Amino acid sequence: MASSYRPSPPCAVLLVGSELLDGRVGDLNLRLLSRILSDRGITVLESRAVPDSADRISEAVAELASRYSLVVVTGGLGPTCDDVTVEATAAAVRRPLESSPEAEQMLKEKYRSWGSGVPPSVLRQALIPRGALPVSNPTGTAPGVVISGEAGCGHIILLPGFPSEAVPLLPLCLGALGLQGCDPSAGRRVLRLWGVPESTLIEGVPGLQEPEGTEVSILPSYGRLDIVLKGASADRLESEIKERFGLRIYSTSLDISLEETIGGLLAGRGLKLSLAESCTGGLAAKLLTDAPGASAWFLGGVTAYSDSVKTALLRVPGELLEKHGAVSSECATAMVLGVRRLTGSDVAGAVTGIAGPGGATPEKPVGTVSLAVSGPGDRLVTEDRRFRGVRGAIRSAAAAWLLGMIHGTLVEGEIP
Ligand code: ATP
Repeated sequence: MASSYRPSPPCAVLLVGSELLDGRVGDLNLRLLSRILSDRGITVLESRAVPDSADRISEAVAELASRYSLVVVTGGLGPTCDDVTVEATAAAVRRPLESSPEAEQMLKEKYRSWGSGVPPSVLRQALIPRGALPVSNPTGTAPGVVISGEAGCGHIILLPGFPSEAVPLLPLCLGALGLQGCDPSAGRRVLRLWGVPESTLIEGVPGLQEPEGTEVSILPSYGRLDIVLKGASADRLESEIKERFGLRIYSTSLDISLEETIGGLLAGRGLKLSLAESCTGGLAAKLLTDAPGASAWFLGGVTAYSDSVKTALLRVPGELLEKHGAVSSECATAMVLGVRRLTGSDVAGAVTGIAGPGGATPEKPVGTVSLAVSGPGDRLVTEDRRFRGVRGAIRSAAAAWLLGMIHGTLVEGEIP
């Protein structure tokens, strides 16, 4: 479809679904779709959620399309009576609904591939606004719908609500509108760090506070920081951050996680990793195994939540537990050595702590966590830390810190 689109179009995302507004379902689409859009240089400037009400949807589409070059709408494309997004959009752009032979064909082919005919109720999904284009849905039934913009009205893309359908459809719909976009990574510098608080970062590299014609974005999450720099001083700031915090940088791409970097470092040296987790209950193992191909370098983990499992499986001595307690660097050290022995790994990590809300003592308040990393070889690193926040935050921070320590051990081990 021909397009007179500008290279960096501002965009709005409209989420349709009463379930998003009454707390039954947490939105995933904004994050997933914004990422796809921003990867193509399309900036999302506004997002809004409306219930399954034709009037509300129509009002929101009309208003957003009058202000934005592109409006992406998700939800309400299905065959049931509460799926009113297409009709509401047709009303917003003042076009009648018409049955699209292409959309009908898409639905028929989809059902044929499943070995059946199209149920009559589903054929309703072939009704789209006049002049709109249907886009075949690779993972579901309802076709995406694209409406090319015209004077005073931006382009509109309608996507199903299921994130697993909306995500693969969006690039196809952008392609149908000729909106492949520009490459936003051109000239962009990305630095992902662990274990550097924001305050330490800006004190270490004060230029980040006055970046002179450079866009600086610093995004913290559980002991990690993503720094994105774009503009005149990006190269200089990048060098300063590398010089000051080099060993804490685990990735220079937003697509490469700490866990994948750890996997790469282990696999590159033919090393295997295992974990012993108490307060994190297996969270660190979950994060590691989110990385595709983790079986090449991750042997497994023991969730040693109780003292009895710590002693029986990891051979943590009962006297040690009595003398120092389960939350102590002595216990973390015994756990890490125990899991290394048990699994035969080259590198191991262990974490034990008080996630709260109960279990605290005056000496060991909620958030007290002991961590240990053993290997490669005889190397042993322990740390006692105090994380703030509620139970979930403490567990997430402890798991993230343990993985950071494993990265640190592997990186420092490479320095002669
Ligand atoms: P289909 O045609 O496949 O029925 P649809 O376009 O009608 O899809 P909805 O019925 O609105 O989509 O939603 C389908 C499912 O996706 C529902 O379980 C809904 O809760 C979920 N969903 C919708 N929007 C979102 C969102 N923004 N984030 C996460 N889940 C969502």
